[in-house]
Amino acid sequence: KDFGVKETLKRLGIEPINQGVSTGTNWLNCNGALTESISPIDGSVIAKVKNADTADYEKVLETAQEAFKVWRKMPAPKRGEIVRQIGNALRDAKDDLGKLVSLEMGKIYQEGLGEVQEMIDICDFAVGQSRMLYGFTMHSERPDHKMMDQYHPLGIVGVISAFNFPVAVWAWNAMLAAVCGDVIIWKPSSKVPLCAVACHNIIKKVLKDNDVPEGVFNLVVAKSSVMGDNFIEDKRVPLISVTGSTAIGKRVAEKVGARLGRTIAELGGNNAIVIAPSAELDIAIPGIVFGSVGTAGQRCTSTRRLIIHESVYEDVKTRLLNAYKQVEGKIGNPLDEKTLVGPVIDSGAVEVYKHAIAEVKKAGGKIVYGDKVLDGNFVVPTFCEVENQWQIVQDESFVPVLYIMKYKTLDEAIHLHNDVPQGLSSSIFTMNMREAQTFISAIGSDCGIANVNIGTSGAEIGGAFGGEKETGGGRESGSDSWKTYMRRQTNTINYGVDLPLAQGIKFEF
Ligand code: NAD
Repeated sequence: KDFGVKETLKRLGIEPINQGVSTGTNWLNCNGALTESISPIDGSVIAKVKNADTADYEKVLETAQEAFKVWRKMPAPKRGEIVRQIGNALRDAKDDLGKLVSLEMGKIYQEGLGEVQEMIDICDFAVGQSRMLYGFTMHSERPDHKMMDQYHPLGIVGVISAFNFPVAVWAWNAMLAAVCGDVIIWKPSSKVPLCAVACHNIIKKVLKDNDVPEGVFNLVVAKSSVMGDNFIEDKRVPLISVTGSTAIGKRVAEKVGARLGRTIAELGGNNAIVIAPSAELDIAIPGIVFGSVGTAGQRCTSTRRLIIHESVYEDVKTRLLNAYKQVEGKIGNPLDEKTLVGPVIDSGAVEVYKHAIAEVKKAGGKIVYGDKVLDGNFVVPTFCEVENQWQIVQDESFVPVLYIMKYKTLDEAIHLHNDVPQGLSSSIFTMNMREAQTFISAIGSDCGIANVNIGTSGAEIGGAFGGEKETGGGRESGSDSWKTYMRRQTNTINYGVDLPLAQGIKFEF
């Protein structure tokens, strides 16, 4: 069954060979090598994309610089209106784009649709934000003086995105950056370049209809020899938002930091759920299972560790076992609506899965369920009993392997919870108010996201998204994340006839 893939590709404007560089409405005839987009479902080549070379990159940079001069002067609510239309174009293309995400990345179709919905939601959010780029006004200590802060557009925002959210990460950054008056250069993961090409095809008409200058929304598909160090070291790019592994994020943060540029780093997680004695297991178990096997364990917020109170440990283990058995029967083609778990991204990820399980066994852990590689890139979600301090448990393995462990006191649970290098998402299932509040207090979870009675996986765009420690410290999406995309300016205005100095200083001549 081909699930209407051919028609979908056609409607999204995907050709057998596509250009990989766009400045908005124009696709550049670029000069680099070809990237093959390989579906993780069956290893077939979906289509190819022509990469940028360094001359193409330079052209994009220059076009973006020129576009910024115009875009920054357009009133923010007018920029918001264009983002509103982009949101509507995404609404129209939701089914097709969701299917392409599923085909190219391997997540199930429902999750592909969910990812496109996140793009639509951030567009709506950004439209509202475009009328709320608020600064404060302050009372001056000097007579006839006024003080205020203003937020101005920053310039070119580089967006480096990971394979597992091939479209949403771009939208979280690009839509806010656009209403803030910035221009965007998107470098997607070379594992999923067609999703990026499709997004640019979708927004093209909106940009054209509104005479948006060429160079506001740019896409550059390229190898890291073209969009690696030279991109992150480029002083013309004041902000780089990077989503990916901690190793890549550290490299980007070091290079951008060396030139005192800004970064938003959204890196790896090692997310845990605490199951307290009073947890309502009927809601906890679906939360755990969605978090650990959803997207085949390839979300930055996937549940990787489960810290279970000893009084409910056996009960939770038995219920999980039943759930994992049911899930095993629903592994398959992610485009099939009966499927719950699709493939992992490639054979490298299958090796990560095998390695994680082998390390657990070597350390003396017990595999409770799973440990099975099926055909191609399909693996059976696995859970095992481990100790938190083992190196393999401390590392993020980006595959569906869940680690479970026991605790006796809440202090111990919080200690185990926080005792990993990463700090992205966390949650506690409890009906005890003291435990819940302690978990989200200053002495509780050290993560950027801390939940009560919902799992770790997935987030709404209304909140600021990101994490602490080796997760990088960046925040994007909702709340006041928009501020990172702007430069802040403090203004003091004297409307009087004298020049009083601050702090009462006298300077007479
Ligand atoms: P990755 O680190 O392999 O790649 C991320 C991006 O960096 C890709 O676009 C890649 O092409 C690019 N890149 C690679 N080398 C580069 C270089 N030298 N210079 C500049 N860019 C370079 O990550 P991945 O495998 O695509 O994604 C999985 C990782 O991303 C996981 O660790 C996951 O937790 C993390 N992630 C984090 C978040 C978050 O919001 N915290 C969201 C999604 C994924």
